[in-house]
Amino acid sequence: MAGQGEGARPRVGPAWLAKYIVWLYRSTMTTTIPLLHDNHNHVSLYAAFSSCIDISRSAPDAALALLRGLPEDRLSVVRGWKSFELPMTSEELSSLPPIILINFSLHGFVVSDSGVPFLETTVPEVASMRNDQAWCEANVPPIFAAYCGLAGLDAKKLGEYIDRMLPLGIGSSDEMTVPTIQALDVCSSSPYDKRLNYWVAPALYEKMDIARRGLVSGIKLFLDGAVGSRSAAIEGPWIGPGKAMFTYADDVLLAILRRAGAYGTGLSAHAIGELAIEQALSAIEVAVREGARFRTIRLEHVQYIDVNQARRAKDLGIVLSMQPNFTSDSIDYTDRLTESYLKRNNPFRMLIDEVGFEPGRDMLFGSDGMPDGIAYAATQALFPAYPSQRLSLDELVAGYGTAKGVSGTVTLDIDDTERRVSVSGTSPVRLAP
Ligand SMILES: [Zn+2]
Repeated sequence: MAGQGEGARPRVGPAWLAKYIVWLYRSTMTTTIPLLHDNHNHVSLYAAFSSCIDISRSAPDAALALLRGLPEDRLSVVRGWKSFELPMTSEELSSLPPIILINFSLHGFVVSDSGVPFLETTVPEVASMRNDQAWCEANVPPIFAAYCGLAGLDAKKLGEYIDRMLPLGIGSSDEMTVPTIQALDVCSSSPYDKRLNYWVAPALYEKMDIARRGLVSGIKLFLDGAVGSRSAAIEGPWIGPGKAMFTYADDVLLAILRRAGAYGTGLSAHAIGELAIEQALSAIEVAVREGARFRTIRLEHVQYIDVNQARRAKDLGIVLSMQPNFTSDSIDYTDRLTESYLKRNNPFRMLIDEVGFEPGRDMLFGSDGMPDGIAYAATQALFPAYPSQRLSLDELVAGYGTAKGVSGTVTLDIDDTERRVSVSGTSPVRLAP
């Protein structure tokens, strides 16, 4: 240790003693849960991203230094950008090497000036529309396809990504937006196929042959933006800039549901803000009344669902697919959300206790890969910012459900003093025959 001379003895002072006493009396509980299924992740996209630089865990200064040092002769795809920690000015973007910087939420990206020509040659439409936020929010699936193409996906990257989730407590996942037909083929022809459920955008579903359509769980729509890109469809007001973004006009959404309702497949819709949830419920009510049928109907995220909307969703037999991970939006986004929205986020107690949603039956949990694994979700479930967001460990486990195609157990350390859950082990892992 620097500055400590030969033969120096550790000093046992009052501060050290106090720390020791806290450590001695810390209350850590260890418990075992099954290996889980993540009901909402973007497996092929994150697998493709595994070869990219991830700045989500870097301090802003370190991230900026890293970006400045990237190669000048090629485009670097960088993920995990948190705009609230590292705002990008036009001066900054003009001085950086060629990069595409993808928002942590996957909604929103920026390109450095020197990166634009690289993007123009590979994904010209995305390049030309990059500064049109409304276009970007309305075209998430083609943007995911562009990310996947820029980063590259193959069977090796896919397998490595899924294997890396095992020690984090996750054995299988719903892949919520398979970006391209090639990505579906990579996934479905791999040994990991049994551990994945596939969802695709309506445009991709239309392009798929009958055999491929038979592989997917359903059609996934994006109805609004995200809090991370200040574009979730909340009434507001936002603190600072922010705008409710909708992918579809009401009549266009209804037309999509009418068409999708004849395919005999499932439906899933990303809807974060209460305005997007309202749009989803109204369109689903009409489409179902008219005869549209879906194997299952899921609403993803629904962070700002209110009690009346929850009752309507329950009456329609809708499954709420939510992310305990996003409970921490109530802490991370004090720069953009008012107290009322910080408090309304992820109202699990209302949904379960008042409206009767049941984790594992009509309430599912997933990570959205932000971050992967069960530890962060468990931390947010057991130690949330607001009591209305709390989930018991049993509810959390039921909402994730046990892994498919693989089984095992996961040991969790629950530290009441630090208010944190960590995974201390996963074993034994057995693949299904
Ligand atoms: Zn997602």
